Amino acid sequence: MMDVGLVGWRGMVGTVLLQRMREEDDFKHLNAHFYSTSNPGGEAPKEDSDKGILKDAFDIKTLSKMDMILTCQGGDYTQKVYPELRKAGWKGNWIDAASTLRGEDSSVLVLDPINSNQIEKGLSEGKKDFVGANCTVSLMLMGLGDLFKKDLIEWTTAMTYQAASGAGVSHMKELLKQMNFLSGKVHDGIDKRNIFDIDQLINQAFLEKDFPQEFFGHPLAANLLPWIDTEVEKGQSREEAKAYLETNKILGFKNKIPVDSTCVRVGALRCHSQALTIKLKKNIPIDEIEDMIKNSHEWITLVPNKKEETLKELTPVNVSGKLQIYTGRVRKMLMGDEYLNAFTLGDQLLWGAAEPLRRILRKLLF
Ligand code: NAP
Repeated sequence: MMDVGLVGWRGMVGTVLLQRMREEDDFKHLNAHFYSTSNPGGEAPKEDSDKGILKDAFDIKTLSKMDMILTCQGGDYTQKVYPELRKAGWKGNWIDAASTLRGEDSSVLVLDPINSNQIEKGLSEGKKDFVGANCTVSLMLMGLGDLFKKDLIEWTTAMTYQAASGAGVSHMKELLKQMNFLSGKVHDGIDKRNIFDIDQLINQAFLEKDFPQEFFGHPLAANLLPWIDTEVEKGQSREEAKAYLETNKILGFKNKIPVDSTCVRVGALRCHSQALTIKLKKNIPIDEIEDMIKNSHEWITLVPNKKEETLKELTPVNVSGKLQIYTGRVRKMLMGDEYLNAFTLGDQLLWGAAEPLRRILRKLLF
């Protein structure tokens, strides 16, 4: 059996990955070695096949013994350890959730229900680096499926509503702390107070020095943040720039299609949502579009464009923790028959992060 090093397994993505690997009995098929950047020598999860002790995630010598390394640790880790390992002559497969290697020619972006052809091509070319794509991009492609795969889209915008957990454990906890802080301000009862007094109390609370905002740097509770990640060229955020680059790389399109967005962090806990305006390459009847979306792959649920169904099903609260991607609000727009509106959401920790990594790991094991 192959030796697989697991790094970053206790973070947001890593925890969901372990949960899925346990559900699918993946550990039966590999020798797992657990690593840590912060606690080497500590206790490893029960699936550790060595001594149950966490190994040092910066120790190139032990990492070099692995047939594969799967990391959900983050970009700084990849940036430091990956080049050292390759320089030391390590030839194993590197599977990664971070964005560091996504733009490299040596890497394959993995999202097999959408790009199994690209994955097979990468394997036949002897590629060794398999990277999960940006979570929002993966969820958009999973949510529209064959519309992208059959190259029917001329361009699209994706206006996103991204959950706090997309930024990791510390950020998700911070959102909850912010909610707690704010609710503590009206401890004597919301119903007993005038709503304008409460509004004023909350606005003052944002300015208090104890207001928890170490990680987001701003209030997210009772607020939204229309900028995610750093600033890049053309007025885009890095998160927005990824939409164009990664969509086209995943699909292997030579004639790249424009995908441009405004990415917004909202106070949802899990699940990234996005509102899409799509310019189709031709006028396709709406029932054909719906059939195409519905039949794209087994992990898609098409929600009828009706108020009741939408409010019940097309929400982060409903979709959180589910592997299914939900797509709805599908309708032609007033701009013309080639303009399509859609809203899609999925748990970004599953198909947006852990699941494509778990599936490429399984594929590489056999
Ligand atoms: P995360 O929750 O911040 O975890 C990353 C690492 O932080 C952990 O492996 C752990 O490393 C350390 N850590 C520090 N404090 C922790 C705490 N209180 N609880 C648990 N771990 C803690 O990051 P993530 O969201 O999983 O993201 C990992 C990578 O995946 C990033 O590159 C990210 O961009 C990418 N990604 C994330 C998502 C998402 O939705 N979150 C989606 C797609 C891709 P040690 O155990 O070594 O200390």
